[in-house]
Amino acid sequence: MSKLLNVRVLVTGGASGIGLVIARQLLDAGARVHVCDVSSDALQRAGAELHGVSGTLADVASESDVERLFADVTMQLGGLDVLVNNAGIAGPTSPVEETSLQDWRRTLEVNLTGTFLCTRRAAPLLKVSGGGAIINIASCAARLGFPNRSPYSASKWGLIGLTETWAMELGPAGIRVNAVLPGIVAGERQDRVLQSRAALEGIDVEDVRRQRTQAVSLRSMVSAEDIAESVVFLCSSAGRMISGQSLSVCGNVETLR
Ligand code: NAD
Repeated sequence: MSKLLNVRVLVTGGASGIGLVIARQLLDAGARVHVCDVSSDALQRAGAELHGVSGTLADVASESDVERLFADVTMQLGGLDVLVNNAGIAGPTSPVEETSLQDWRRTLEVNLTGTFLCTRRAAPLLKVSGGGAIINIASCAARLGFPNRSPYSASKWGLIGLTETWAMELGPAGIRVNAVLPGIVAGERQDRVLQSRAALEGIDVEDVRRQRTQAVSLRSMVSAEDIAESVVFLCSSAGRMISGQSLSVCGNVETLR
């Protein structure tokens, strides 16, 4: 199946976790994919695992790294049709009064400023391509309150504002901008998040996992593959009239309390 034949895509934070699965599905759909990541080990493993992927070691929160990243993208892909702003960190699990300014700043710098820096460089390339798509990987925490996760919550709600703003700004140039809101995605990062929450509340991690799943209408976590499929859909011609939307892929998380 080549529904994205030769479509040129950049996936940030694409060397592991959800980003890696997105990159894999895009490649399987025929796209040409460049990934960036802050972890050189992960980048090396991704290069070995994903046939045909190119990569740059870059921190999306660093303006100079993002400049270097886009120089690589232009060299490797010769332009850009799709940007997937996936790089993100969980930030601290702590009540607001115990959250350090340093943790607050770093979470916003990666999740929000990183998305801004990449989009700022991608927009002119997408315009040269005659249109394209930007997909911001937010979270179901972008539509619900999330106790003890202030910086994460602020950064992900911020992404929804940017999605709706950029859809309006860039739409006349044929650029569609949407957000995908993953729910509780089974995997290593979720394990770390659940462990932090269990430690904060002094309860067993399996009890936290059960509580979380009980708050999902479909009573299930989602997989990274579920998220990647929605990204492929939004990039493909099936999504050609979709812009400015927030697509929750979460089994309907009812609360993050
Ligand atoms: P992960 O930690 O497993 O992987 C994130 C990848 O991004 C890693 O390869 C990491 O090295 C890279 N990265 C981190 N900071 C970076 C930076 N500053 N610059 C470049 N790369 C960086 O996380 P994940 O679960 O795959 O999450 C991917 C995205 O999905 C994030 O935006 C996250 O907030 C969002 N999300 C995840 C879940 C979940 O349950 N895992 C739920 C909702 C939303």
